Amino acid sequence: MARTRISFLTKPALFLLAGLCITVATTGVVAVALYQMRLDAMAQARDMAENLAISLEKETERTLDIYQIAMRNVLTNLETPSPELAPETRQLLAFNAAGTISDLGVIIATDTSGKVVLDSRSMQPSTIDVSRRDYFLVHQQSPDVGLYFSKPFMPITKSDYHSIAMSRRLADANGRFEGVVAGTLSLRYFRHLFEDSILGDHGSLTLIRTDGIILMRRPFKPGDIGRSLADGKAYPLMTRADHGTFVRRSSMDNKDRLFSFKRIGRYPMIIAVGLSVQDIYAGWRKRAIAIGAVTAVLDVLIIMLCLMFSAQLQRRLAMERQLQKLAWFDTLTSLPNRRLVNREARGILADARRQSSQFAILFVDLDRFKRINDTQGHAIGDEVLSEVAQRLRRCIQGEDMIGRLGGDEFVAVLRQCDVHKAAHVADRILQAMQQPIAVNAGRDVSIALGVSIGIALYPHDGRSVDTLLRNADMAMYRAKNAGRNQMHFYAAEYEYEAKEHLELEIALQQALREGALQVAYQPKVGAWGILHGAEALVRWHDQKLGTIAPDRFVAIAEESGLITELDTWVLEQACSQLAAWRAVGVDVPNISVNVCAADFKRADFADFVARTLQTHGLRPSDLTLEMTERVMFDESTDDIRATLEALHAQGVTLSIDDFGTGYSSLSYLQRFPVRELKIDKSFVMSIGTSAMAESLTQTVMNIGHALKLSIVAEGVETVAQRDFLSRHGCRIYQGYLYSPPLAPQDFAQWAKARGRA
Ligand code: C2E
Ligand code: MG
Ligand code: MG
Repeated sequence: MARTRISFLTKPALFLLAGLCITVATTGVVAVALYQMRLDAMAQARDMAENLAISLEKETERTLDIYQIAMRNVLTNLETPSPELAPETRQLLAFNAAGTISDLGVIIATDTSGKVVLDSRSMQPSTIDVSRRDYFLVHQQSPDVGLYFSKPFMPITKSDYHSIAMSRRLADANGRFEGVVAGTLSLRYFRHLFEDSILGDHGSLTLIRTDGIILMRRPFKPGDIGRSLADGKAYPLMTRADHGTFVRRSSMDNKDRLFSFKRIGRYPMIIAVGLSVQDIYAGWRKRAIAIGAVTAVLDVLIIMLCLMFSAQLQRRLAMERQLQKLAWFDTLTSLPNRRLVNREARGILADARRQSSQFAILFVDLDRFKRINDTQGHAIGDEVLSEVAQRLRRCIQGEDMIGRLGGDEFVAVLRQCDVHKAAHVADRILQAMQQPIAVNAGRDVSIALGVSIGIALYPHDGRSVDTLLRNADMAMYRAKNAGRNQMHFYAAEYEYEAKEHLELEIALQQALREGALQVAYQPKVGAWGILHGAEALVRWHDQKLGTIAPDRFVAIAEESGLITELDTWVLEQACSQLAAWRAVGVDVPNISVNVCAADFKRADFADFVARTLQTHGLRPSDLTLEMTERVMFDESTDDIRATLEALHAQGVTLSIDDFGTGYSSLSYLQRFPVRELKIDKSFVMSIGTSAMAESLTQTVMNIGHALKLSIVAEGVETVAQRDFLSRHGCRIYQGYLYSPPLAPQDFAQWAKARGRA
């Protein structure tokens, strides 16, 4: 069979796959790059948060340190008992010391009852009492607290902001509680500090006491100050180390944040920078969407291109397959065509030569297929061929092949095949054809069909595919000639016969062209010896080949198509001869000329006959055309019938020659415009020897009488035969009893002698 190349270009699916791979690869690369960008964004945010935490921590620590120093000075001035300095002077010194931080807040000192005795804002005696503040109570109760950071509180003086206080205990020389020194720090300071920082839209900054109490937070909400974060998720992580960075959900507003925290020096405070994850990824997200969109569009484009390309490729491949099918397969039956059969057969022959094995070629030809085509139409003919092809395919097995050469010719090539297998397969084919073929389902037509099979075997019957095919064809012709619907093996003598046949054909062609043929005339005689007419019979004497019998060369002429030329020539000769005889007073009433199916198929035959008669001054009734029954059974019945009707209409007599040897069908005789029957000489000759033949002869004559046809007996050689025929109503005789076929001048003499007799 035709083999297709397997490659990338023959597989549209591979294009799709490649397209998908490219898409997946590019998408993968883009995804990895985007992931990396995301990591970078986070790393950048981490640096930023950490840096911010450090700088805020430094700033805060510095401020607190200043406070500390101021407080210590106040403390020293108030605590240190100095005999030189009056208490008022000490108070003044302390006031001066407290004044150094007046920008940041207030420093106060109290007595043991919580009454403010020193206020950095004024030298006037104060009325403020802080005995209920947590820092006072802590120092009053525990002597060892050291520096204490208070909870946020609203200052007694009117203010919008909370404050916190850093406090220390005041003690006398014996360590007894003397009051507290406290520096209050307005949290407004941190608020300004926080608001100056760059944070993004959803960032947060938190100043937390180490126990989780919020001292200040951005975004600022007054209610947040003093709240505890101890229950949150982020805060616990900030108590475990001095500094750190992590991502957690904020318990304040449920936003995910990157937190970077730092403990403020030695102070019990933590500064926490929280950058919103949403802000961190905002830039990245925008870029990711843009890049993702571009990638998606590219991917879609690639896939679409691949789809288009693969569809195009698919179409092209389908077309190629179609072309290949057209080139190698028969369109009607889908069987391998002549070209493919030849190619495969060559391959099989090569195999057989290598393996020193045999193989067979079966030439299968349908019997009378042309007739089906002509009578039923080409559509039915095609249906029949398709069905035959299917049946044949079923008869062929394995690696053997069956192909259609064209028309109604099929060829089977059988591998590893001997005479037995070939006969077996041929037999199977004949069997398969026995069942009539039902066609045109609607009309329920069923056609019986036979096949003739010729078989040639390699290497015995030929060593090349051409020879084997030719010899199988020849054997097939044998099968046809032997009666059709059978198989014949090729035999070497066919070759010889075929050669001889060809030689004769060439010689006959030459003889026809050179006018080397002759025509002999045999009289048709009526009762009482009256001349009824003469039959023109062609004669051929070749200098090299000798005299060749008409039966033989007429058959060759029929096969080769020379017959129409030959018959035309004889008809012309016969008419001119009749005219010539009449011109010299030889009265021949009618001339018979033999014709065959091929003549009637000539569209212009009736016209030609009319013209010829006219040319020689004859009437149509002067001519009889003899044809065998085969003509009526020919495949092209319609053309033939038309010609016969035309000739009959002109007045030419139509005669059935050799009647009784063929189909002898009454119905055909009725349908065709026939006027004469010629009983075949084989019947006549058996008169007197076979009772059976005699009764058959009688039957044939009865048919003629029934159809009101004139009856002529051929090959009458004896008086007894003539008398028998006469007794049964046959009145015209032709045969050696009267005269053999004669050359024209001999015939004229014979006729004159008759006339005188
Ligand atoms: P046919 O038309 O049946 O011709 C009669 C044949 O019987 C002739 O054979 C003739 O010689 C032979 N014959 C006549 N009387 C006797 C007899 O008493 N005894 C015997 N044994 N034979 C006799 P022929 O001439 O050999 O022709 C053979 C056939 O060739 C013819 O048979 C005819 O079918 C065909 N034929 C001859 N000439 C032509 C022609 O010009 N065109 C065509 N198409 N066919 C022709
Ligand atoms: Mg004849
Ligand atoms: Mg005859």
